[in-house]
Amino acid sequence: MVAEANVEKLIDDFEAMTKDAGRVQTEFLEKLLKENGEVEYLQKFGLNGRTDPESYKSCVPLVTHEDLQPYIQKIADGDTSPVLTKKPITILSQTSGTSGGAPKYIPFNEQLLDSFVQLLQTSFAYRNREFPLGNGKGLQFNFVGKLCTTIGGLRLTNLQTNLFMNPKWSETSMKSNSCSPEEVVNAYDYQQTLYCHLLCGLIQHEEVEFVMGAFAHTVIMAFQTLSQVWQELIRDIRTGQLSDRITVPSIREAMSKLLDKPDPEKADLIYKRCLNLSESNWIGAIPILFPNAKYVHTITTGAMTAYANKVRHYSGDLPIVCLDYGASEGVIGVNVNPRLTLESTIFTAVPNLGYFEFIPLDDSNEGDEQPNTVALTQVEVGKEYEIVLSSFTGLYRYKVGDVVRITGFYNSCPQFKFLCRKTALLTVNVDKNTEQDVLLSVAAAQKLLPNENLGLVDFTSHVDKVLEPGHYVIFWELSGEASEELLGKCCNILDTSFLDLGYITSRKSKTIGPLELRIVKNGTFHKILEYALRKGTPVSQFKTPRYVPPASKGVLEILEGNVVKKCFSTAY
Ligand code: AMP
Repeated sequence: MVAEANVEKLIDDFEAMTKDAGRVQTEFLEKLLKENGEVEYLQKFGLNGRTDPESYKSCVPLVTHEDLQPYIQKIADGDTSPVLTKKPITILSQTSGTSGGAPKYIPFNEQLLDSFVQLLQTSFAYRNREFPLGNGKGLQFNFVGKLCTTIGGLRLTNLQTNLFMNPKWSETSMKSNSCSPEEVVNAYDYQQTLYCHLLCGLIQHEEVEFVMGAFAHTVIMAFQTLSQVWQELIRDIRTGQLSDRITVPSIREAMSKLLDKPDPEKADLIYKRCLNLSESNWIGAIPILFPNAKYVHTITTGAMTAYANKVRHYSGDLPIVCLDYGASEGVIGVNVNPRLTLESTIFTAVPNLGYFEFIPLDDSNEGDEQPNTVALTQVEVGKEYEIVLSSFTGLYRYKVGDVVRITGFYNSCPQFKFLCRKTALLTVNVDKNTEQDVLLSVAAAQKLLPNENLGLVDFTSHVDKVLEPGHYVIFWELSGEASEELLGKCCNILDTSFLDLGYITSRKSKTIGPLELRIVKNGTFHKILEYALRKGTPVSQFKTPRYVPPASKGVLEILEGNVVKKCFSTAY
C-alpha cells in the first residue's frame, strides 16, 4: 500500500498538474507523438514530425474501435512491426462487451499499467485523507477472467486480469492488503472464489477496514451469497475445516493457512450476528459483520446507479465511496471527492494519463462524421460531451463511447459526472433514447413499487421491431409478485418518462407502438451474468446490459425464455 509520506506527495503532484492541465496535456501529446509518430497507422496522416495539438487535430481523424480493428487484428495475429505503437504489443485486453455490444480487443502495455497504478494511488491518497485506514485489510471481491492466447501468441484476457498478473500491480496496489490470498483471486471459478472471499473476510472480521467490489452489483451478489451460505461459512470457522465445495487445490492449500484450527468462539460470535441479520433482511450487514470497516468502495455511477439502494441496504450507515473511472482503453477520471454522495459522484480528469478531447453533444455537431472537439481545459460547465482519448496503447483520437456532463473544475482540470454509454441507443424511427434515458424512466416507474418485498431486482431494455410498428420493451425482474394494476401503472410511467420529442411524437402518431413491460422470472438476470461468465467476462467486470441489441441473441434468448407476464402501456 502507499506509505504515508507518499500520500502527501501524491496529493501535491496531483494539485500541481491540475493547476497546469493545459501544459501537461500538450506535453503528453508531444511525448506520445515523438515516441509513436512513425507507426504504420499514424504515417498515412502526414503529421511529418509535428506534435502540436492543432496539427494533430487537423491531420488525424476521430475513430471508433471499428476503425482500429484491422490494426489490432494484425497485432493479435502476431505482427510485431510498429503497427500502432513503437514498442510491440504483447498483451491485449478484452472489454467486457456488456455495456454496448460485442467484446473488443484493446492493446495493453506497461504504460497502461503505470497509468492504473497512478490512478489507484492518487485516489487512495484523497480517500485516505478523508477516511484514514490503519494497518487493517480490505475485503476485496476481486475475480480474474479467462486467459486466452491469440493466433499470434499474445495473451488475451480482461483488463483486471492483465493488471493482477503483473507483479508491479500487486506490489503497489491494495491487493497486497487484501483479506484473501492471491490463490483465491487467481482461481478461475467465481463461485469458489466468492465463497473464500467471504470466509477470509469473516475470519479476519476485526481487521477488515473497507469492503470493495468493482461494480455495485459485485457487492450485492457477494452479500446475497452470504445470506445463503453463512451457516456453512461459520461451520468452516467452527471446525477449522474448509467446505467440500472448494475443490481447486491451490485455493484449498492457501486457505488451510488461514483456517488452521477450530475456532468455536469466533464462530459463535459471527453466528449471533448473522442470525440477527438473517431476521432483518441483512440490513446494515457490512458494519455489523465488520465493525472496523470505514467505507464501502464500489462503482455506483452510470449503469450501476440502479443498484445504489441495494448497496446502501447492506452498507447501513457506512459511507459508500465510488471507485474511479477507467476502461480497458485507459484511465479517464479519478475520484478525489470521496465524501460526495452516490448521486453526486464526480470524476476529475487526470491530465498526464491521456490526451483528452471532448465532442460537444449539441446541435452544432449533429450528424457530422468528424465533429469538432474541444480541449480538456476548454469544456464548459453544464454541457455534455463524448470523450475522445489518445494514449500510449496505440489509440489516437479514439472515441471511448462514454458521455459525461461537466460539473466544474478542479484547478484547471474538468470534473464530470458519468452519464452513459453513447452507443446504447433505443430507436425505432426518429426517436433516440440513451442508456441514461432508460435509467431515468426506470427510476421514475420504480417509485411505484412499495418496498423491499416487491422491489426491482434488475432490468434492461430492448427494441422490438418484429411486429409493426416497432416498440420499446423493458424487462424487469421483481423480488415479489405484482398485481396487473400496479404493472399497468408502472408501464405507463415508463412510457411517459421517455421525454425525447421524436419518441413522444411517434407515440402520439402511433408510428411507435405502446411500450411493453415484460416481467421475467426470479434469477433471470443471474442467468445473464452466468452466460457472460461462460463467455469469459470476470464477475467483477460484468455490467448488466441496460440495452440489449438484436445481435445479442444469447442474452435475448435468456430474457424471452423467462418472461412470466407482459403488459402494454395505455399512456398515449
Ligand atoms: P471495460 O473496458 O469493459 O472494463 O468497460 C469500461 C467502461 O465501463 C467505461 O467505458 C464506462 O462505460 C464504464 N465505467 C468504468 N468506470 C466507471 C465508473 N466509475 N462509473 C460508470 N461507468 C464506468
